[in-house]
Amino acid sequence: GTRKVLVTGCSSGIGLALAVRLAKDKLRRFKVVATMRDLDKREALERAAGKSLNRSLEIRQLDATCEDSIRECVNSLSDRQVDVLVNNAGVGMIGPLECQNVSAMQELFNTNFFGLVRLVKELLPDMKRRQSGHIIVMGSVLGIQGLLFNDVYAASKFAVEGFCESLAVQAMKFNVKMTLVEPGPVVTEFEKKVYEEAEKMDLSETDEETARIFRQIYLKYSHEVFYSVGQTPKEVAEKTLQLIVSKNPPFRHQTNRLYRPLTAMKHADPTGHLPLDAFYKMIFQHDHMFNASLSILRILHRRMGAA
Ligand code: NAD
Repeated sequence: GTRKVLVTGCSSGIGLALAVRLAKDKLRRFKVVATMRDLDKREALERAAGKSLNRSLEIRQLDATCEDSIRECVNSLSDRQVDVLVNNAGVGMIGPLECQNVSAMQELFNTNFFGLVRLVKELLPDMKRRQSGHIIVMGSVLGIQGLLFNDVYAASKFAVEGFCESLAVQAMKFNVKMTLVEPGPVVTEFEKKVYEEAEKMDLSETDEETARIFRQIYLKYSHEVFYSVGQTPKEVAEKTLQLIVSKNPPFRHQTNRLYRPLTAMKHADPTGHLPLDAFYKMIFQHDHMFNASLSILRILHRRMGAA
């Protein structure tokens, strides 16, 4: 039969690509509830959905930071039926810590972490009762391995990992599946938004050396990484579809093979030296951090036999 899939954050990026991919499935396996915080931003999704709009794809309002909005959306579905939740809504933040205020950090957690918590609280009891369901969460490789100037964003994705890892065991008891999708860089609005904010950022709050590292090394590096090894939202959507239809979906899936060795470093060395040294060298001991990091990625990848 068809499965009802609720996706959050569908006005752009991965959420939009996934909602459309599922709705246009040739085998017609899905009914998609594509949700977004602000319905005024529905145009891009409507255009991409084309003929599937109001057939296999319906658009609903859902703000991940608001319990009432989540409940209203779920209550509006017949039998409150959601077979698959894709928790995708998320925001980014980069820069030196001194230049960011705590309330912005709390806002980020309110979406990236508590948004997930709210949705799971609303939907898991139904799934447990039905003894079926699949909760899919957009995590990140930064939920496994931190990255400089991504301190708070990475922390929010780590929080997501801890939450899912803990809950997955209970869910399993009730035949509810959980999967963390962990993309590396994906070329979406996300990156653009984060850069725009970084450009506007008042770097006078930090010392000159930190400001220089951020502007002249980090931003350049990050930009090049996105455009050389970044995936498209479509690629991530395709992989997510495969995870949804999989008979025995994994608990974790990294979408970008190139990043697997990087995240494996931390498991290879419990003292933490290996990843710390690798990142330090990558960033501070090479004129061309980008080239260095790519070659480190490739060497690791080869050594570990393309894990
Ligand atoms: P995006 O900015 O295009 O999409 C994020 C969506 O979430 C947007 O449509 C935004 O409006 C929505 N959103 C934000 N706050 C919301 C709220 N309170 N309620 C409902 N929706 C809200 O970026 P994306 O890259 O498609 O990001 C999707 C997910 O993928 C995020 O969780 C992000 O952390 C994760 N991710 C992105 C990358 C990347 O490089 N782009 C890498 C790894 C993981």
